Amino acid sequence: MRGESPVSTLFPALSTPSAKTALRFGEQSLTYAELADVAGALAGELAPGRRVAVWATPTMETSVAVVAALLAGAPVVPLNPKTGERELAHIIGDSEPALVLAEHRAELPAALETLPRAGIDTAPPPVTVPLPAEPDEEAPAVIVYTSGTTGPPKGAVLPRRALTATLDALQDAWQWTEEDVLVHGLPLFHVHGLILGVLGPLRRAGTVHHLGRFSTEGVREALDGDGTMLFGVPTMYHRIAEEVGGNGQLAKALAGARLLVSGSAALPVHDHERIAAASGARIVERYGMTETLMNTSVRADGERRPGTVGLPLGGVELRLVDEDGRTLDAWDGETVGEIQVRGRNLFTEYLNRPDATAEAFDGGWFRTGDMATRDPDGYVRIVGRKATDIIKSGGYKIGAGEIENALLEHPEVAEAAVTGESDDDLGERIVAWIVPVPGARRPGEQELADHVARQLSPHKRPRVVRFREALPRNDMGKLMKRALHE
Ligand code: ATP
Ligand code: MG
Repeated sequence: MRGESPVSTLFPALSTPSAKTALRFGEQSLTYAELADVAGALAGELAPGRRVAVWATPTMETSVAVVAALLAGAPVVPLNPKTGERELAHIIGDSEPALVLAEHRAELPAALETLPRAGIDTAPPPVTVPLPAEPDEEAPAVIVYTSGTTGPPKGAVLPRRALTATLDALQDAWQWTEEDVLVHGLPLFHVHGLILGVLGPLRRAGTVHHLGRFSTEGVREALDGDGTMLFGVPTMYHRIAEEVGGNGQLAKALAGARLLVSGSAALPVHDHERIAAASGARIVERYGMTETLMNTSVRADGERRPGTVGLPLGGVELRLVDEDGRTLDAWDGETVGEIQVRGRNLFTEYLNRPDATAEAFDGGWFRTGDMATRDPDGYVRIVGRKATDIIKSGGYKIGAGEIENALLEHPEVAEAAVTGESDDDLGERIVAWIVPVPGARRPGEQELADHVARQLSPHKRPRVVRFREALPRNDMGKLMKRALHE
C-alpha cells in the first residue's frame, strides 16, 4: 500500500501522484506515483539544510536523488563523475556535504572516501515517511560549481526561488504542457541538463526521456516515438546538421518535434540554417548560465533569427553596459556592451567567496562577462565572452563569433575557433584554428582569409591559420579557448 504523498510546491504533480510517466532512462521508467514513493522515502533519510552531494551519472538514480533532496530541503551539490581528484577534493572541502548519494554500482574516488555514502533505490518501497515542512524560497536548493575556466571552481548557490522563476518563465515562453515529452542526452551535473532538462518537465507534470548517450539515431527514434521537444548543445546540433541533409527519416522526425532547443554555447548560424532547410524544424536558442539560470530565449511562437538568443524571459531584466559601467541605450545591432542581468532567476552568492560574489555584482545587477548587441526590437546577439572572444586589432573591437560563423560556411571547414594573439603592429592579430572536413581537401590559408574578408570585411580576416585534428571541448561541447594556446 502507498504511504502519504509528499507535499511539494516545486513539483505539484508529486502531491497528486498519477500513473503518468515522469522519468524514462533507457529501459527504466517511473510514474509520478512511483517517483513520489521512491523520492519521498529517500527524502526521509535527509534533513532540511543538511547538504548532500550527488554522484551525478546520467541515470534515473541521479534524478531521484535530486528530487528527494529538494523534497527534504537538503541543498544538493551535483558532482561531475569525470572531475579529477584534486578538483573533487576542493569541491568537497568547500561545500562540506554531510553525505554522498550514489548509485549502488558506482565506484567512488578517494576524494569521497571520508564521506558517509547512501545508495539510491528506484524500486518503490512499501511505506513513505512524513516529510518536514518545505523550506523558505530563499533557502539554498542546488549548489552548482562553475567549470573553473578562470580559477578554482566556485559554488554558485541557487535558491528555490531561482529554480521556480526560471522554470516558470521557460514554460511560459515555450508553451510547455503536460503532454510534452522532453528528449535529452545531456549530463546531469550542470544547470542545462539537470535543472532545465529534468526538473523542468517534472515541475510541469511532463515526461523526461533521457537518451543516456546522445546519438542522432537515438534522437530520431525518440522523436518518432512520443518525444515532443529536444534539448541539446551546439555540438549535438552540428552532428544532426551533418546528417540531416541525406537522412530523410531524421529530417522527418525533427520536423515532427514541437521545439528543438539549443543552449550552453552559440549555435553556429550555418548549422541552424542547414537543419531548418532540410527539415523545417523549429529551432530556438536560449542563453543562460550557472549563476543566473536562464536569461533569454526565443518564444515557441516567436520569430526565429539565427545568430540571436531571443528576448529576456519574463521577470528577467537585461541591460548592456559600456566599459565605464554606463547603460547603452542604442539598440542598433552594432553597439557592443557587457550583458548584465537582474531578476528572481539569480543565484545568491558563491559559497565561501564573499570577494568573488561582491565582484560579480554591480548593485543588484549580475555582470555576466558576456558581450552582446541588441537588434532594434530587442533581440540579443551574443558577440562572445569579454575575456576570450573580443579581439582588439588595428583599433577595432572584433567579436570572434562572427568570424567563426563565416569560416564555418566554407565547405572544407568542419570546425573553427578564433582567438587573438599579441601583435606588435596590430595590438592583437586574429588567429583561426581550423579542423578541416575529414577526407576533403585542406583549404589554403589565403583562401580562408579571403573568404572572411569577402563575407565580413577586410580587417576581420585571420592573419594566421592553424590546422588541428580536433578542438578542445568540455563535456558540454563548449570550446575551451584557453587550452588552444597550451
Ligand atoms: P566558468 O564560469 O567557470 O568559466 P562557464 O561560464 O562556461 O564556466 P556556464 O555557466 O555553464 O559555465 O556557462 C555559461 C556561459 O555559456 C555564458 O556566460 C555564455 O558565455 C555561454 N552561453 C550559454 N548559452 C549561450 C548561447 N545560447 N549562445 C552563446 N553563448 C552561450
Ligand atoms: Mg561563467
